[in-house]
Amino acid sequence: MEIFEQLESEVRSYCRSFPTVFAYGRGHLLQDESGRDYIDFFAGAGALNYGHNHPVLKERLLSYIADDRVTHGLDMATEAKRSFLETFQRVVLEPRGMDYKVMFPGPTGTNAVEAALKIARTVTGRTNVVAFTNAFHGMTLGSLAVTGNAGKRDGAGVTLGNVTRMPFHGYMGSELDTIDLLEQHLADSSSGIDPPAALILETVQAEGGVNVATMPWLRRLGALLKRHEILLIVDDIQVGCGRTGSFFSFEAAGLDPDIICLSKSLSGYGLPFAATLLKPELDQWEPGKHNGTFRGHNPAFVTATAALEHFWEDGELTEDVKRRGRLIRGRLQDLADIHGGVVRGRGMIQGLEFPDAELARDVSRVAFERGVVVETAGRQDEVLKILPPLTIPDEALEAGLDIIAECVDEAASAGAGRSSGPGDLT
Ligand code: PLP
Repeated sequence: MEIFEQLESEVRSYCRSFPTVFAYGRGHLLQDESGRDYIDFFAGAGALNYGHNHPVLKERLLSYIADDRVTHGLDMATEAKRSFLETFQRVVLEPRGMDYKVMFPGPTGTNAVEAALKIARTVTGRTNVVAFTNAFHGMTLGSLAVTGNAGKRDGAGVTLGNVTRMPFHGYMGSELDTIDLLEQHLADSSSGIDPPAALILETVQAEGGVNVATMPWLRRLGALLKRHEILLIVDDIQVGCGRTGSFFSFEAAGLDPDIICLSKSLSGYGLPFAATLLKPELDQWEPGKHNGTFRGHNPAFVTATAALEHFWEDGELTEDVKRRGRLIRGRLQDLADIHGGVVRGRGMIQGLEFPDAELARDVSRVAFERGVVVETAGRQDEVLKILPPLTIPDEALEAGLDIIAECVDEAASAGAGRSSGPGDLT
């Protein structure tokens, strides 16, 4: 028995979906120990927007390490941290007219969310937070409480409270604008909702099934929260850092969040790193109130700085993401036109929802056997989630999509055989 089965906890998950031992990662390719290449349409669940081991980032990292620069420094001031902050201000905040303080929580997405929830509750003196159906915000207790999925929540072992759940865009079908529901609840002092400190939002619910909020819905939401003086937390952990085209996913909607959570692709290299951005007036932390040993990991500062300089000084990546996103969407739509199913997404996160979750899982499994790493999302894993590195060359993107198309065609005919009807994906 391999050491993984023998020694590693049953909690392991992705290695079950992609059962091989990986050895190398280069750009959009993963290679296993037998030398087999896989096109990576998963990109570290959004942590590898610039692909594996990007040469520009790698060079900066290697020279930083070779020179014995500080690797670990708690949250002490280092040259690497200064460069990151200066670059983030110059490349990301200033051009967008954004005024935020940058807080470094522990280096995971869930820690950025915990910090956001804590400060929102502390500053407002309120405990309640509004969260959406199908939301995913991480696996620690505060983040789980705002997460929707029962299979994740029931691992908590304690009551998850102080949260009011509201339907996300489209949750009640296309006829009902769920902002109406939220507005009514907030306006009515007898609705039974305790005044919330904040509302936490993903503009595209990635884990929840690639559920996309429309721009008008987001704008209405932003305005409603302002009217009711409820803080807006945008969790941009998976769909920020360029995934939808712009650096932040909410830019196209013109939202003005009070708090922004970033992680995953922020380091650009797959190194653990997270940041919680706060409007300056919310930065009411006492020193050390959200401490942690690995806050602001210096090698991550180095690669994050290199990534901002390399990819975000101009609009080229944004244009590429929009173009490649259209390409992916077109190819998925072709499949949906033939077999049924629903396509949705923004930029380079695109999903194909199958009415039968088994088909989505089959496609993911067979695609892996044929050399594509692609995951499923949604309440029953019914959505095939296409999440390649933003930098993937067009030929590789097309090649991966060809394999996916083959797998969908085959799974659909096998599924039709199983259900004995002419039925297909519809
Ligand atoms: N928030 C969102 C939107 C996510 O997609 C994730 C992870 O998938 C998290 C938070 C949690 O991040 P982490 O797994 O780094 O704790």
